[in-house]
Amino acid sequence: MSKKNYIVGFPRIGEQRELKKILESFWAKKSSFNEVLDLAHELKVRHWNYQKDAGIEYISSNDFSLYDNMLDTAIMLGAIPKRFVNLREEELYFAMARGTNTNTAMEMTKWFNTNYHYIVPELSLEDEYRLNSSKIINEYKEAKELGIQTKINIIGPLTFLGLSKRVDQGDTYEFLDKIIPIYEKLLQEILQLDDDITVQIDEPIFSKDNEEKILNLIKPLYDRLAKVSQNINIIVTTYFEHSNEATKILATTPVWGIGLDFLYGDENFKSLELIKNSDKKLIAGVVDGRNIWKNNITKTIQLLEKISEVIPKENIIVSSSCSLLHTPFTLKYEKNMDADIKNWLSFAVEKLDEVSLVSHLFFNDSDTTEDKYSLALEANKKANESRRSSLLIHDKEVQKRVKNFTKLSRDGEYQERIKIQKEILKYEDLVTTTIGSFPQTPEIRKARREFKKGEISKLKYEEQMKDYIDHCISFQEECGIEVLVHGEPERNDMVEYFGEQLKGYGFSQNGWVQSYGSRCVKPPFIFGDISRPKPMTVDWITYAQSKTDKIMKGMLTGPVTILNWSFVRDDKPRSEVSKQIAVALSDEIDDLQKSGIKIIQVDEAAFKEGYPLRFEKIKIYEKWALRDFKISVSSAKIQTQIHTHMCYSEFNDIIETIEAMDADVISIETARSGNELLKIFKKVGYKQEVGPGVYDIHSPRIPSVDEIVKQINLLLEVLPKSQLWINPDCGLKTRKWEEVKPSLQNMVEAVKIIRNELNR
Ligand code: GLN
Ligand code: ZN
Repeated sequence: MSKKNYIVGFPRIGEQRELKKILESFWAKKSSFNEVLDLAHELKVRHWNYQKDAGIEYISSNDFSLYDNMLDTAIMLGAIPKRFVNLREEELYFAMARGTNTNTAMEMTKWFNTNYHYIVPELSLEDEYRLNSSKIINEYKEAKELGIQTKINIIGPLTFLGLSKRVDQGDTYEFLDKIIPIYEKLLQEILQLDDDITVQIDEPIFSKDNEEKILNLIKPLYDRLAKVSQNINIIVTTYFEHSNEATKILATTPVWGIGLDFLYGDENFKSLELIKNSDKKLIAGVVDGRNIWKNNITKTIQLLEKISEVIPKENIIVSSSCSLLHTPFTLKYEKNMDADIKNWLSFAVEKLDEVSLVSHLFFNDSDTTEDKYSLALEANKKANESRRSSLLIHDKEVQKRVKNFTKLSRDGEYQERIKIQKEILKYEDLVTTTIGSFPQTPEIRKARREFKKGEISKLKYEEQMKDYIDHCISFQEECGIEVLVHGEPERNDMVEYFGEQLKGYGFSQNGWVQSYGSRCVKPPFIFGDISRPKPMTVDWITYAQSKTDKIMKGMLTGPVTILNWSFVRDDKPRSEVSKQIAVALSDEIDDLQKSGIKIIQVDEAAFKEGYPLRFEKIKIYEKWALRDFKISVSSAKIQTQIHTHMCYSEFNDIIETIEAMDADVISIETARSGNELLKIFKKVGYKQEVGPGVYDIHSPRIPSVDEIVKQINLLLEVLPKSQLWINPDCGLKTRKWEEVKPSLQNMVEAVKIIRNELNR
């Protein structure tokens, strides 16, 4: 009997973050590598069994990884940067990911528009690639021993190359001929494993706007790979968007199946005829792999019915929309969550049941009219109905206010504003500041934790935080920094802090999602209309301002970043949710300025992260993201100086949007690239002030005065001193005081030197 349901991939970090813990213990030399491998085995077995028990038929192997699948693929191909080749095998893998004392780590970057980060392979013309198939083969056997025949997941050659970089800056796709033989060889080895075998080749790169040149590579490549053997069912899987251009081509190759995401790429519908005519299997991604909401089974069945108007049912396989890696693990440990809300959610383990249920109902197998399924369907209908009508979600007042909100931008043109602001704020050229946070010491983390658990009183907690703020202020004053910050000790996380104070936000206890390697994040979720019951930052900031005669910068997280780092309700467009957050923030800004705060920074660290994959959608996103940033600062008076901060530096394609945000000052990350990335600001005639980070805070290194002087001089080659602020390139919360103190002292010293030189 043919198999009917499918999971693209499963999270591997473990339901209690077991993998994280053992890895970190291994890195700290407290566990052996064998202990890591034992635990990895245990996790794989557990994860396979979860899927098997839920009735999942296509279960993957090689979706597991000790760090990252792109890194695994680099190892599989033998694409090992020169600086690592002499390392022993056990050392090599983590050295590539994390660096060693003598070798810098490989770069890491975002996996498409998710919050997962992969290791960027480095390719060089001198490399000779050689197959290392052991991980893939062993994982298959590991599952087979348990009686589970897996499909084998591998990252496709075009996605691998598209996401790699070449040390000589050349075109990575030129390496295709070098790696195809290795993929062929891999498939030949896989062929030895069983008579009938399925390989899922992930090609999410097909979900982007690809040039003709790249599309032209698809047919010869997949013709070749499919030719290795008819006994391998090759499925090419895409996700996060439609992949119509590629699907059209794949339909002309002998691959066995194509995986499409119908939730984030509903335009995939346009390709159905092609798939039908080529008689391929369609792996239909219909259960959301990127969000946490319970599936609406009835709707999903309707969606599948629609698909089956074109594709014969026997060629459809029901699937998650992408790997479940991007969702938290299980609801099992959520003990504190409101029961209603919990009933609206579904994490990875729960999604397995959904995929299974959907497939049973859709294919309506005669033996599956069992009660179990009809009961599950009933429960699902009830849960969705309760969510739809819940008073927790729908706030008419908020909806009305946000709908009729007319103040879409702040008063005054930039030139007029900056003149007035400079009269009030009286800062010199090359004014020094920081991005907001100061080191989060073990003591303040402990205090926050104890306060959350009710172990210390509010009073005690606030005293401790205030002591810390005092400490930050006196350090900044002594150091000679000119625009101060309070240091953000009260914030565990720049989004969670605001989420906790906004109505409409929910939190999980254990909803961890892998961000990279052993790092996990626990995004809050937006379930209802958002409003601000009371001021969120005013007490802290005004306290800090009361302790100094210098200017204290108020610190907020912007609407788009709050949105992009949360799981967002799926019953409203993101743009509407974002607008609600923006309106709440505009009230906060108004309260801050009424309390005497003269500079307010609205961080948009994740503005760029939310960019959709496809050009047409980018335009739509930019429009509302910009609108909502402007709404959030619309209450600022001409006199109030608005700053923003962005954590990345590639502004070339978004500079117009950045300009249109019209912040009086923007601080950005440029330290690692000299002044290259600043040039675009000059090129477009950017008027507002800019604080290009003068040193990299991501490393523990202390920059010397000399180095910062050089960096500032580089900046001055691009922009005039009157337009420049001097600051580190991001918040300091992950650093230690021993690093922060001398670094900032050197920064201030460097500015003194430059000012002297300029005044001479
Ligand atoms: N104000 C925040 C901080 O300093 C900004 C952090 C960020 O942009 N990631 O930590
Ligand atoms: Zn930053």
